[in-house]
Amino acid sequence: MRKDVLKVLMYHKVVADRKHCDALSVTTDQLRSHFEFLNQAGCNTILLSDLVAYIDEKKQLPENPVLVTFDDGYADNFHNMLPIAKEACIKTNIFIVPEFIRNNDRAFMSAEELRTCDSNEIQFGLHSYAHASYKNLSEAEVITDLEKCFRWCANEEIPVQPCLAYPYGSFPKETDERKATFFNALEDAGIRAAFRIGNRLNELPLENNLLIQRLDIRGNHLMTDFIMKLQHGRVSVLRKWIKSFSHEPIRALHESFEKVSLVLKESVVKAQAHL
Ligand SMILES: [Zn+2]
Repeated sequence: MRKDVLKVLMYHKVVADRKHCDALSVTTDQLRSHFEFLNQAGCNTILLSDLVAYIDEKKQLPENPVLVTFDDGYADNFHNMLPIAKEACIKTNIFIVPEFIRNNDRAFMSAEELRTCDSNEIQFGLHSYAHASYKNLSEAEVITDLEKCFRWCANEEIPVQPCLAYPYGSFPKETDERKATFFNALEDAGIRAAFRIGNRLNELPLENNLLIQRLDIRGNHLMTDFIMKLQHGRVSVLRKWIKSFSHEPIRALHESFEKVSLVLKESVVKAQAHL
């Protein structure tokens, strides 16, 4: 029997014009197609609070659950993404960085914009206070950072779920002991779900609610890549190889020839060694 999985999509910016597309962006047209596909494929988008209720209260998730997430809280999420999500009835979640909001930088959503969002449609999680990597922070520093985030959100009356997306997707990995103390620190600070990147699907029940994997969705991916990622996680080596043929056939052919020659040469050497 096929196992139940939770798919978590990770986006950043949503730009109206392809000209402004960079490594962290998708266009509004791409996002519309992605959301349309999620609906056609029978996916049910969920909110961070649904995931927390699943973790803490064993509350069932809907079939084919998909968590759509956006990192950093870019202003275009409010202006470009939200109307598309509303129209497609897709629930979304944004991981915010208090320092970005506090700075009144117009690239990011304002506190007022965050307050006007309907929590039945869109919810917020944390992404550290000032986008620091948690990888090199001590446990005490992590707790202080998260407490500062929760305090700021409470003062600004911004409802935030006890969820964290690791900035840069990074967290301490050196030893099992270091990982365990890090996860304890997150729990002490009240975090119930934390997200890395990883580009894999999450089998349910979750193995570790503080290491939930997300699929990195980018504008330079084709729609077929999006579908492949959604179905299988990482785009396979074979898929990359096929893609290189459709983009630059001459170069791909040349590279493939070189690789095959190398493999053949190596096997001849190996075979000779056995003679
Ligand atoms: Zn980020």
